[in-house]
Amino acid sequence: MDPSQSQQRIEAALKLASDTRVLRLGRGAVRETGEIFRACFGSRSAVVVADANTFAAAGRDVLDALVRAGVATNEPIILDDPELHADYRHVEHLQQRCAANEAVPVAAGSGTINDLTKLAAHLCGRGYMAVATAASMDGYTAYGASITRHGWKQTIFCPAPVAVIADLDVISASPGEMNAAGYADLIAKVPAGADWMIADALGVEPIDPQAWSMVQDALKAWVARPDAVRRGDFDAIAGQMEGLLMTGFAMQWCKSSRPASGAEHQFSHLWDMQGHRYDGRTVLHGFKVAIGTLASTRLYEELLQRPLELLDIDGVCRAWPDAAGLEDAVIRTHELEQIRTVARQEMKAKYVSRDELAARLGRLQSVWPELRRRLQAYLIPADALQAMLREAGAPETPAQIGIDLDRLRRSYYEAQQIRRRFTVLDLAMQTGLMDDCIERLFAPDGAWTRAVDR
Ligand SMILES: [Zn+2]
Repeated sequence: MDPSQSQQRIEAALKLASDTRVLRLGRGAVRETGEIFRACFGSRSAVVVADANTFAAAGRDVLDALVRAGVATNEPIILDDPELHADYRHVEHLQQRCAANEAVPVAAGSGTINDLTKLAAHLCGRGYMAVATAASMDGYTAYGASITRHGWKQTIFCPAPVAVIADLDVISASPGEMNAAGYADLIAKVPAGADWMIADALGVEPIDPQAWSMVQDALKAWVARPDAVRRGDFDAIAGQMEGLLMTGFAMQWCKSSRPASGAEHQFSHLWDMQGHRYDGRTVLHGFKVAIGTLASTRLYEELLQRPLELLDIDGVCRAWPDAAGLEDAVIRTHELEQIRTVARQEMKAKYVSRDELAARLGRLQSVWPELRRRLQAYLIPADALQAMLREAGAPETPAQIGIDLDRLRRSYYEAQQIRRRFTVLDLAMQTGLMDDCIERLFAPDGAWTRAVDR
């Protein structure tokens, strides 16, 4: 990774950013927290938000740096709930504590701390600053917080931080599984990008070239050294962190998670909504996304083997459900009423009539030979992805996150229904090929069966 190119990419992204004015990525960057805070927030006071672990890893140094720069600081807010996760009730709790005074929150932590602080600060009507403690996910510079509310995992729109500090000394020292999770969240942009390619080609959602370029131009270089990420190699972690931050900027630019999130994230969100836990704890976001990435890519590989240009459009449209059929499908697919409620709403939002489906499939027939070539050139094969995830220290089989093959098989159908975004899951449903693809993937000699037997 060429450092001057990284710097250029970051500076270009900052120029386009609506919320984030400063980003410092490098070794020892935490020491600059105070000066950066003053440059962004003037004479306002600060309050560090962390959990016990992230306070020890960075929060204490952040506080010292603020004090050294003459920033007035309040007693840090240490979120010590052992069940702390990105749930709306924790946002409300933090919002109440922040609303007691005028201090600007400085989040020292990774995904959960950042998302909680981002939304709580917004609800208090003020900006905030983020200090990353791990290269574990892409939300630091993103517009919006990924929060579970009423059992529904959703992106709640709120501004990105005014300033972000990513200190490589802190990040490289974070627990290895955190950076492995971030590796998976970054490599997930490959199938996520493929989903955007098909949505674009079918006229469902055009690609934003600016956001595409921020995420995709250097993506394959950022994920090229999974073994080095596992070793905590500074260069590899710096590249990964740059990739995660650039992805966040792409979301900030689009005001949407589309550049970063496709079907692979729907698997992860689904398991969150189902309250999935393994070994008595919730599973890291990136670890669920790792399995989602393989699930999405394997479905692509099934579809890419099929001549969709020869699809029997009339036959597919005759079997396409009407409103009553849609309701049946939702009830058949989900057991939990609160997920059914979400699924009804999301399925309705992306429903197309039989006529609209016929038009879309007609377009698919004409673009498929070229689209398939582009997808084949772009995607990383699932077996290679599996090896890369393994080398990075991320899960490569669903059993490693407590999901058995039967559940994974069901998850394809469930995940398709929980978000309106058009992905490979919708391509499989709308071409009437989902059942057939799933049958193949989970057959005794199918790709999933072979992958877990290896
Ligand atoms: Zn993610």
